[in-house]
Amino acid sequence: MPHSPPAPSSQEAGPETGTKAGRRAAFLAGCRPATRRIHAPIVDLAASRGHLNPRGLGHARAFSDLGSLGQSSVGFDTLGDYEAADAAGRAPWGGAEYGVVQSPEADAVCAKFAQLHGGAGAIVCASGLAAIATMLDAFAPKAVLIPDALYFPARRYLSETGRAALLTYPAGASGEEVGARIREAGRHFAPADTMVYLEAPASGTFEIPDIAGIVAEATRAGLRTAMDNTWASHVRFRPLEHGIGIAVQATTKYEGGYGDTPSGIVVARDKADIARLRRQLRISGHGAVSPQTCTRLFHRVDSARDRLDRHAASAAALMAWFEAQPFTAETLSPTRAGSPYHARFRQYFGAGNSLFTVAFDEGLPVERVHAFVDALLLFRVAESWGGHVSLVLPVHPHRDPASLPGESLPKGVMFRFNAGLEEADDLIADLAQASRGTLL
Ligand SMILES: *Cc1c(COP(=O)(O)O)cnc(C)c1O
Repeated sequence: MPHSPPAPSSQEAGPETGTKAGRRAAFLAGCRPATRRIHAPIVDLAASRGHLNPRGLGHARAFSDLGSLGQSSVGFDTLGDYEAADAAGRAPWGGAEYGVVQSPEADAVCAKFAQLHGGAGAIVCASGLAAIATMLDAFAPKAVLIPDALYFPARRYLSETGRAALLTYPAGASGEEVGARIREAGRHFAPADTMVYLEAPASGTFEIPDIAGIVAEATRAGLRTAMDNTWASHVRFRPLEHGIGIAVQATTKYEGGYGDTPSGIVVARDKADIARLRRQLRISGHGAVSPQTCTRLFHRVDSARDRLDRHAASAAALMAWFEAQPFTAETLSPTRAGSPYHARFRQYFGAGNSLFTVAFDEGLPVERVHAFVDALLLFRVAESWGGHVSLVLPVHPHRDPASLPGESLPKGVMFRFNAGLEEADDLIADLAQASRGTLL
């Protein structure tokens, strides 16, 4: 364990030695200041009810009496003012005529994201999934071409609503492979009714398709294109600059960066598309985003590049550590020179982020990998990613076996890691202590 001055005792006192919270507190006392800042004063998940931020930080009203605070009613001096605002869907002071639809803070966020992506406009929704759903509902395609590794909740939305026929293509497909699927779709669906949906790199396993080839095929066929750009954020990739019509991002992840901005944005290249998205937002009510969330997003997005670079450097250090261990079969990340997607990674993204997946040796009993995960003291078992706290979660790839590309997935147990903003050496010390007696 690394040694540095002990942490302030007020933050570390409390949990009993022998409990996991106690072991974490003892470990954190030996960590560097940046690591301690990220994990204190949250010592005990039971006390924080599973929240990775201290209690109170989620309470918008305790934070500020300024701003609109998410009021539903927006007031007008005269009936005429109200009727004009209602007809336009705009209040004279920003936002909509009804506060649930859009706040002035949401306006500011939308303007910023439209600019970051070079779009005609943007909408912000209450989650990344709500942004995806709003986008799909706005354009109501009858057929959607999706990667077989599509972010599972998006796929579930499509299949549960039954709103469109789904044609899958391999997550690491070439332009020709998708071109063939486009021609197949063309036998049953008009171009105006067909959408080509991209997500790259793929969730959990990080395949990268030939984005340029797919866009060329879709454009030639006159199809609408949309891309889930959550992995990259505007920092690593701007879909509109690559000829894609619509970019969707879960700003829950890197733009907010601290796990306290559940939200998603949709940016469109064309004015007409933005009008459809805004209309759908009114219809669905998905625009009810807390102004506190918008305020956080508005400021934090400016530091996204610095955080991403730091996340990426830590993730690279952790991958190098895993790759030197006898229990690692493979690390999955397009940032690694040996990845089959490395050339496309360099072409499109250039630098990595906080995520990578470790495939453990297939000979290892699953229980030992689970014991390793349970012994981790800085990495929390939790969904989502892109925040300050390091996380770990099992990966269960959803694949269409018929469309698997040449090389198949690793056979051993797989876990996805989010390298947080702690000091990388502390994270490696945690991995090392957890692996002793479990994997080693
Ligand atoms: C997290 C995520 C989303 C959805 O974001 P939520 O805010 O959790 O709804 C969408 N796409 C990808 C690729 C994601 O990782």
